[in-house]
Parts: sequence; C-alpha cells; structure tokens
Amino acid sequence: MRRINNILSLVLIAGITLVSCSEDQSPVADDLSVPSEVLAQIADLGFDIETQIPTKIDEGYLVEGDIYLTDQTIAEMGQGRSIATVEQYSTDNLVNAGGGRVITVYAPEESSGGGRGKKGSSGYSPAMIAGLDLAIARYNSENLSISFQRVSSSSGADIVMTRLSKRDERRGVLGSAGFPTNSGDPYGEIKMSGVLESSYGLSTAGIATIIAHEMGHCVGFRHTDFFDRSISCGGGTSNEGDGGVGANHIPGTPTGATAAKKSWMLACTDGGDRPFNNDDKTALNYLY
Ligand SMILES: [Zn+2]
Repeated sequence: MRRINNILSLVLIAGITLVSCSEDQSPVADDLSVPSEVLAQIADLGFDIETQIPTKIDEGYLVEGDIYLTDQTIAEMGQGRSIATVEQYSTDNLVNAGGGRVITVYAPEESSGGGRGKKGSSGYSPAMIAGLDLAIARYNSENLSISFQRVSSSSGADIVMTRLSKRDERRGVLGSAGFPTNSGDPYGEIKMSGVLESSYGLSTAGIATIIAHEMGHCVGFRHTDFFDRSISCGGGTSNEGDGGVGANHIPGTPTGATAAKKSWMLACTDGGDRPFNNDDKTALNYLY
C-alpha cells in the first residue's frame, strides 16, 4: 500500500510540477505544446487551462488531465455558460437509452504467444482487462437503462479502449475520454494507460475505478468536483467551468462534493477503490 501511495504521489507530483514550471513562464515550446490560439479557444469554452495546461495528444488535446478534445469538437462546442456549484453533474448531451441500451466495449488484449490479440504495447494485460470487466459489472449491477458488454471485436463496438502512446504512459497520463454526441451516442473512445498494474501496482478495483470514471464521461458525467478540482486534486481552487458541454446538477444529489465521499467521478484519483457511493447511485439512476 505504501509503495502504491509513493508511486502515485510521484505521478501527481510529476503532473503538478509540469504545471507549476509553466505557470511562471510561457508554456514550454516542445512538440506537446498546444498552439496559443487553440488554448484561447479551449479557455473560451470554460475549461481550466491554468491548473493543468492542455497538451497535445494524438490528433487532439488533453484538457484538465483526462478530457480529450479535437479541433472538430472544439469547433462544435458553444460558448461557456454560467453554472451552479452543487454536486453531481451531467453534460447537456446524454446517451439515448430508449427502452434499454447495451453499450458494447472493446479492449484489445495482449497476445500470449500465437493466440489472437495485439502484440506488445498495443494490447491490455489480463489485469487491465479484469479491471474493465469489474467496471462493467459495477454499472450493470445498478440495473440502469444502459448496460455495458465487453465484446471481442472492435468493429461495431460503441466504445473502443485504446492504449495511450508509450510517451503519454510514461509522463503519467492515466486515461481520457469525451462526452456523448449530439445524436445520443456515447463517446466512442477511451484512451487508457496499459500500465496501471505493472507500473503503479493498482489493484483490480483501483483499475476498475479509473476505467469506470472514463466510461462515466462517455455517458455524460462531469467531474463531481468540477467546480473546484482542488477537492480531489489538491492545490489551489480551480473551476473547470461549463466546458462548452454543460454542467447540469443532477437532482437528488447533495451540494458540496467532498473527497471523503470518494465519488468515482472526482477529478483526481488516489489510485484506490471508489465503488459507486449512494449519491453516485442516485445520479446514475436519475440519468439512466
Ligand atoms: Zn475525468
């Protein structure tokens, strides 16, 4: 446990250091930096660009640690609106569950010598897959109008889990996702580190918590502490704002997020297990 905490502290410190280095100076101009005009657009949408400076990742940008935006999604988003500061929030767009919808999830598995699956760094270890399965089981045990099912092929899957680049895994990115589409589909991709067990020593439950968090974004959950990320991340007060996607209070959930309640949608993880608490369950059942 101690070792896990130490390693995680290192990761958090790495993230914080990156930010504080850049706070005093203009952002370091390497190939991870986001063009200033894009930074301005992201800030206009209401995202926090100061506590955690957006970085380039694949074809887009990683914002607030785990939100993935592209030029296209930025262009599609409206201007920021004002939002209240109470607990449990959803985006404006939600998944259209109809009378009940099964959301399929595909994650490539590491090949174990000659079998099917992806070789080397593009697939997930059995520990990561076990975490995904536990995350799915947690949602399904709530008997919501959406349920999740892991499938063995990416073709037609609603959500595809893909490995982060080695570089992003090394610099401590854990995972990222986006929000539901205008047409009522879940966001289609979770970019997830494949080293949560091998590098950080997380338990299956800890891995499940992080994957369930990204799945939560895909179906429309904002961070429980989006109005003040310092609740779970530490550091100074930091409001993520409307983010151009909405932050609608979910009726029946209390005001004032606390780290002690360990919501699965808190902005920052401590690597521990955060199964759905009663407020999380209220929020899930309200939306779905
Ligand atoms: Zn998140």
